[in-house]
Amino acid sequence: MFEMREGYRVVAIKRANGRFTKCVLDKHDKIVEKKCTGCLEIKGLERFNKNSANKFDGRIQKCKKCDAEYSIKYHVENKERNRKYDAKKREQLAEHRRKYDEEKRKRLAKWDRYG
Ligand SMILES: [Zn+2]
Repeated sequence: MFEMREGYRVVAIKRANGRFTKCVLDKHDKIVEKKCTGCLEIKGLERFNKNSANKFDGRIQKCKKCDAEYSIKYHVENKERNRKYDAKKREQLAEHRRKYDEEKRKRLAKWDRYG
């Protein structure tokens, strides 16, 4: 939990996407805590999963707890969608294969005629 400490300061840092994140900097301007975009609590940086793609501070914007909850929710919501998508994809592939086989048969039949 956030509490003011000597030499620390709270700043709003603009991220690459133009949004601001509230951060707590130490004396050396190093980010030690930041605000989670999920639960909106200010937590220590070690409570955020690493993401080297994030040039801002090398951490994701949600704390580990929120990220885990989000992942579960996302997974459940997408399960049904993915199942439907897979069925559709399988059907398309089968259709494609049918057409291909048919064309191949026609091609071969043609060769037979001239063969
Ligand atoms: Zn959070």
